[in-house]
Amino acid sequence: MRTAQRQQGNVSREERQSRGRSPSIPAFEPQFVFFEPQALDYPLGQQLYQRFQTKGIPIQMTTSHNQVRGIPGDTPLQAYKNAKRTLVVGVRKTLTFDTSKPSAEYAIPLATGCMGHCHYCYLQTTMGAKPYIRVYVNVDEILKQAEAYIKEREPEITRFEAACTSDIVGIDHLTHTLFKTIEFMGRQRYGRLRFVTKYHHVDHLLKANHNQHTRFRFSINADYVIKHFEPGTSALADRIEAAKKVARAGYPLGFVIAPIMRYEAWQNGYASLLRRLSSALADTDVHDLTFELIMHRFTKAAKRIILERYPKTKLDMKEEERKYKWGRYGRGKYVYRDEQAQDLNTFIREQIDQYFPQAKIEYFT
Ligand code: SF4
Repeated sequence: MRTAQRQQGNVSREERQSRGRSPSIPAFEPQFVFFEPQALDYPLGQQLYQRFQTKGIPIQMTTSHNQVRGIPGDTPLQAYKNAKRTLVVGVRKTLTFDTSKPSAEYAIPLATGCMGHCHYCYLQTTMGAKPYIRVYVNVDEILKQAEAYIKEREPEITRFEAACTSDIVGIDHLTHTLFKTIEFMGRQRYGRLRFVTKYHHVDHLLKANHNQHTRFRFSINADYVIKHFEPGTSALADRIEAAKKVARAGYPLGFVIAPIMRYEAWQNGYASLLRRLSSALADTDVHDLTFELIMHRFTKAAKRIILERYPKTKLDMKEEERKYKWGRYGRGKYVYRDEQAQDLNTFIREQIDQYFPQAKIEYFT
């Protein structure tokens, strides 16, 4: 599919704006590194140890990647910021994969945690007091488990989501475990991989033998949302450039628009996003394109943590303006009211249909 280039006047203005943008963020380098002793029994563990030693990054040992002590910080906020700069290299012991509906059957655990500072990120609550980044060196054991799950369901296709607990693309230049997993899934008749990222450091992944078994998705959003709520992630222009490279490398491509937010002039924001995307992809053959649409939501627990960590956030979390949706174990969340959700759904679907008539919208939630 070749996307239609429309509305040239707007496009050139946006391109002009993007030329004047700030420099791209560099690939993540941790400032503090911890190793579990067993990680050094694996070639990847050894390789990472040497890498950080050569770079002069302080390395400490930790008995368990689940309990890391010694991340500096005089206040909880400083400790949180430093944890986001900390990499822990360990061995994944739990090899039972979580489920990952609606986009996949299983979450494949390649890493946990993320260096990004998205205010709304659900890792704020799910990772609680452990916001540091963990990578696992026993990737062969993890892939063996994935193979067992695939075999159980044959001849049904089994999909694995690699970005449930981290932004794996943003870390993979260090470990190449995602690269290895992409090639592994390329060899699986009944296995498929998916992940989503806000980072543009994709170059090494372009060479992987993916066999079109991996759907490479980028998280995108209206300028307002990226500007106010996604510090520490790649600029939209960089994500779009990376998406073009990924499409040219023959990967099935996807965009996740999340979290979709209502703010003043949200219609302009999302219309402009899709117009800009369409223009940028106009010279790229995209054979297989999907969109996933996820609205903003929050829990009471998340709101408390977000306000502690990002006290000046402009994130709209007024419970009285939302609908309470009961969840499992009595833990509900605040979502947009039905008519507001319907507005968002209708408007964004119309924009996608206009600019990407052959794309598939997988879900809106
Ligand atoms: Fe969370 Fe993704 Fe932002 Fe990382 S990039 S903080 S995983 S939302």
